[in-house]
Amino acid sequence: MIPFNKPYLTGKETTYIEDAVTSGKISGNGIFTKKCQFFFEKKYGFNKTLLTTSCTDALEMASILINIKAGDEVIMPSYTFVSTANAFVLRGANIIFADSKEEHPNIDETKIEGLITPKTKAIVVVHYAGHACEMDTIMAIALKHNLFVIEDAAQAIDSFYKGKALGSIGHLATFSFHETKNIISGEGGLLVINDEQFGDRAEIIWEKGTNRSAFFRGDVDKYGWVDVGSSFLPSDIISAFLYAQLENLLDIQQKRKAIWNTYYEQLKPLEKKGLVKLPKVPENSTNNAHMFYLVCNSNEDRKGLIKHLKANHIHAVFHYLSLHKSPFYIDKYEGEKLVNTDNFSEVLLRLPLYYELSRNMQEKIIQKINEYF
Ligand SMILES: *Cc1c(COP(=O)(O)O)cnc(C)c1O
Repeated sequence: MIPFNKPYLTGKETTYIEDAVTSGKISGNGIFTKKCQFFFEKKYGFNKTLLTTSCTDALEMASILINIKAGDEVIMPSYTFVSTANAFVLRGANIIFADSKEEHPNIDETKIEGLITPKTKAIVVVHYAGHACEMDTIMAIALKHNLFVIEDAAQAIDSFYKGKALGSIGHLATFSFHETKNIISGEGGLLVINDEQFGDRAEIIWEKGTNRSAFFRGDVDKYGWVDVGSSFLPSDIISAFLYAQLENLLDIQQKRKAIWNTYYEQLKPLEKKGLVKLPKVPENSTNNAHMFYLVCNSNEDRKGLIKHLKANHIHAVFHYLSLHKSPFYIDKYEGEKLVNTDNFSEVLLRLPLYYELSRNMQEKIIQKINEYF
């Protein structure tokens, strides 16, 4: 079986975990946590970062930081992972779903302004497949209406919009290091704080609502309960694992991009014949090779292709089901039909893409796709 995903280990993970263990400090905010945060801040120009136990947790922190209250409205795409919405629903927000673009699952920036009401508090963008949303337009809308922008950059490590790292543009941003992402720690995430007004409070929320971080820095002489919060910080064992991955970021990215490009070049003839569409990287965006997907012409085609690949021991998978039609939200949804979101729910198919996918395996996948058509 060629799996859809296989977590890649660089070899240094267990060495660094051993280092963390022998150092005697394995709770959160230790040496490896600081090393990882420093890496991200330096490499991508993020103002301040905090490692979290998941992207979900980082999104929940963002929701607390912008003071989401019952009845607030948050605009986001419907074609996304549950956590993008859940983090704000947990604090009482109503989610206002916007449609995707016709040619890309990213939020259609031209649909956002029409959804803004006096209750709107934030816009959450998702850089699907690591491809940038149209951030200049979105930041201008936010500025005009006094809204916060949060980038769900879970899939977008090492990708750029007009030369700026994704995750460095919104007021806040979140990344994931779940084992299905480019850089992994099993479960793991990162909160990026670009707007300095959130910096001190983010540390407090991260450390259970206490000013513990400031205490250890020596900024205050005792620490206590100063705000709401939770335990959002990962153990240094997790950060040690992540650090090994970060050291190999370049190698991992080169490998993934090579696989992505091979798919693109070799499947191009199918697109020319109108049998399938290939991903369209937006003009102002780089491609971080997080994902290679096909947009099939119909749901039948997608089903047939999944079945054909499965019969040949290849695991290809579809992706999000429109959140506005989910069992949890369908009764609450009062907006318009989201035709592009629904279309991607029906016809988008993801192909295996991981570091250890060999040339032979990829040739087989491509051959079997051609065979189907
Ligand atoms: C993976 C993913 C998440 C969730 O990340 P976790 O680290 O598993 O919490 C959230 N949003 C998007 C767009 C994702 O792809």
